[in-house]
Amino acid sequence: MTESYQAALARSAELDKILDTDPGSLRMLTGDRPTGALHIGHYFASIRNRVKLQQRGAEIWQLVADYQVITDREALGDVAGNVRGLVIDNIAAGLDPERATIFTHSSVPALNQLMLPFLSLVSVAELQRNPTVKDEAKSAGITSIGGLLLTYPVHQAADILFCKANVVPVGRDQLPHLEQTRVIARRFNERYGPTFPEPGALLSEATLILGTDGTKMSKSKGNVIELRMTADETAKKIKGAKTDSDRVITYDPDTRPEVANLLLLISLCEGTPPEAVADEIGDGGGGALKKRLTDAVNTELEPLRARRAELEKDPAYVAGILRRGNERANEVAEQTLAEVRERMGMVYT
Ligand code: ATP
Ligand code: MG
Repeated sequence: MTESYQAALARSAELDKILDTDPGSLRMLTGDRPTGALHIGHYFASIRNRVKLQQRGAEIWQLVADYQVITDREALGDVAGNVRGLVIDNIAAGLDPERATIFTHSSVPALNQLMLPFLSLVSVAELQRNPTVKDEAKSAGITSIGGLLLTYPVHQAADILFCKANVVPVGRDQLPHLEQTRVIARRFNERYGPTFPEPGALLSEATLILGTDGTKMSKSKGNVIELRMTADETAKKIKGAKTDSDRVITYDPDTRPEVANLLLLISLCEGTPPEAVADEIGDGGGGALKKRLTDAVNTELEPLRARRAELEKDPAYVAGILRRGNERANEVAEQTLAEVRERMGMVYT
């Protein structure tokens, strides 16, 4: 475990405590790229924490990161359909549209303008070192990294800091980006005076969920179990998941990562430790493991899927949520940008 991962875990534990003692002091921002439908990796690593933060009384800002679709591909695909799908997924999972601000960053010009001063606070060398940018380029098959992918973490800093969020529920792949946001906040504050909080990641027990091929579950990779799938589609997907040839099921993330991932998913659904699930399955093999996971996931997601189907029937309602979210995000972004320009002495009239 690296030192920075350990520090992130410690900060996350600290945020968990604040969630109990002073949840009103927390403002959450997190986001998803509209590159496809949300999957159980999002659900367990981030969405459950979004809902927990909301239930405890934190302020909720939920971003649909549409500009970031074109960081690692040329075509936007069905971006409008994917944006609508993300809004529906988040509400179906439990975000309250009356309390959460759900918005698309392309609709908030002042947020994007924050990128200019923020870009002046980072070096090309530090951007080039970002391991998540390198991984994303690799999995997208990109050999020459574009300017938007390179500066993705700076844009993400604008996403988080425009509303002065201090807690960001994310998976492990986002930690290098969040560290960059902390650095940008710190450097801005040092140069121009205290303006931004240094946000921390809120991590779940599942910081990295693997997909059916044994690599990180990712919308773009087709190795996902989507929240919106039917029970049968879920069963089929899980049936095809990679395991190993050892019939006796044991929980060993280092030597049996695929089997451990399926056990972890069962454990997250059922609230039973993964070791205990492994003991119960014993020599039942991959078949019994997958059957139990299918039942667990389908039971866990049943209410979400029912709400999702209702929301699908009402596109005007969904559009209204986004319209209101974009209006509120613009108000706050304009205030922050005005403050930033004032701090920088850029007020002339
Ligand atoms: P894409 O392949 O298009 O990048 P993605 O599946 O990686 O899609 P994002 O929209 O990039 O999803 O990520 C949204 C959030 O979900 C981030 O907080 C990220 O850390 C988290 N997340 C995504 N995939 C996983 C996963 N497999 N395990 C844990 N967290 C994940
Ligand atoms: Mg991603």
